[in-house]
Amino acid sequence: MAHDAPQAAGPSKLVIRNIGLLLSGAMEKPILDADTIVAENGKITAIGRFKDVNTDDATTTVNANGTTVAPGLIDSHVHPVAGDWTPRQNQVGWIDSYLHGGVTTMISAGEVHMPGRPRDVVGVKAMAIFAQRSFWTLRPGGVKIHAGAPVIENEMVEDDFKELAAAGVKLLGEVGLGGVKDGPTARKMVGWARKYGIQSTIHTGGPSIPGSGLIDKDVVLEADTDVIGHINGGHTALPDDQIRCICEGCKRGLELVHNGNERSALFTLRTAREMGDLSRVILGTDAPAGSGVQPLGILRMVSLLSSLGELPAEIAFCLATGNTARMRALDCGIIEVGRCADFVIMDMAQHSPGKNILHSVQLGDLPGIGMTIIDGIVRTQRSRNTPPATRVPEIVGH
Ligand SMILES: [Zn+2]
Repeated sequence: MAHDAPQAAGPSKLVIRNIGLLLSGAMEKPILDADTIVAENGKITAIGRFKDVNTDDATTTVNANGTTVAPGLIDSHVHPVAGDWTPRQNQVGWIDSYLHGGVTTMISAGEVHMPGRPRDVVGVKAMAIFAQRSFWTLRPGGVKIHAGAPVIENEMVEDDFKELAAAGVKLLGEVGLGGVKDGPTARKMVGWARKYGIQSTIHTGGPSIPGSGLIDKDVVLEADTDVIGHINGGHTALPDDQIRCICEGCKRGLELVHNGNERSALFTLRTAREMGDLSRVILGTDAPAGSGVQPLGILRMVSLLSSLGELPAEIAFCLATGNTARMRALDCGIIEVGRCADFVIMDMAQHSPGKNILHSVQLGDLPGIGMTIIDGIVRTQRSRNTPPATRVPEIVGH
C-alpha cells in the first residue's frame, strides 16, 4: 500500500562483535550471554559468541570494544508537528538531538502543537492522515516516528474511526486535549478506536498549559485507554491515592514522563513494583513542552528510576525498550532474532565513580553513547549530547 514503510536499499549484513555487556530489553532476562550480534537487511539474524555465529560477508563490522549494546530507546510520548521542527519552543533539529540521546523510535501522543490546529472532524482526520504519512516518509537521522494521532472531538462518530484506521492511522492522541473530557464519551470513542485497531492514550492529571483541562482518576479509569499517558502528570500530577487507584483499577500501560512530576513517577514505580506489575511501566519525555525538549530525557528517566527508585539499571533500560515495544506492538525494542536491528551502544561516562556502566546508572549518572544503529545502519557515532563514553565502538570494515 502506498503508505507502507519505505524499503531499505540493497542487501546488508551488519556484525557487532566484542560486546562487553548485552542488554536484551526484556525484563524476564535483561542480560544476554553473548558478545556478537548479526543483522541482515535490517533485522537481527543471530545473537551469540563470535566463534558460534556466521559473520562471513559482512557489509559493516563494528568492534564494540567491550562496551554495552542495548536496544535503541523508545520515547512513548512526544508531540511532533512537521519534519524536525517544533513550534512549541521554535526549535529545529530536536529529533536528531534525541537520536544522540539513544532514541531510535518515537510515538506521537498527538500533533497538538500544530499552529492553527483544526478542531472540526474532517480537519482532525486530515491532519492525522497527513502526519502519519509525512513522518513515516521523513525520518530525521533515521528515527522512526509513529505519528498521526488524532485528538478526539465530541462530534466524531464510529465511521470516523473506521475511516482513520483504513487510511493507516494506528494511534489516538491524548484523550482530553480536545473537546472530549468526560468519561462516558471518551470510553465510547476509545472503544471504537480499539475495534478498528487504533491504540489510545489519555492526558492524566492537571492542565499542562492554559487551555487544557484536568483529567482525574474517574475519567482515566472510565475511558480505559490502552496507555495511561503520563500518570505522573504533565507536569501537575494527581494525588498519590488517585495514582494508586489507577494502578490497581486497571491493567493498562503506566507511562512515566520526563516532563512530569518526578516524585509521582517514583511513587508509581514503587506501586507497580509492589503489585508485581513492572512490565506495565513505560517511559516517555512528553516533549516538546514548556520545559523545552530533552534529548537525554529517556536516559535521564532510566537513571532517575534506577538511582532514586532503587531499580537495577538493566531493568530500568527495559522500561525504555522492551516494555514499550510490547505494549505498543513494535518490532523493535528487544534484542532477539527477527526484530529490527535498532541499537544504542554505550559505556560508562568518563570519570563516573561507578564500577561499571550499570553501577554508574544506579549512582544517578548518565551513560555515554558511542553509536546508534537503526535498521542495521550506523546512524551516529560518539554522541554530541551525552557525557563522553569511556570507550567507544568503531567501524572496522565495510
Ligand atoms: Zn498530556
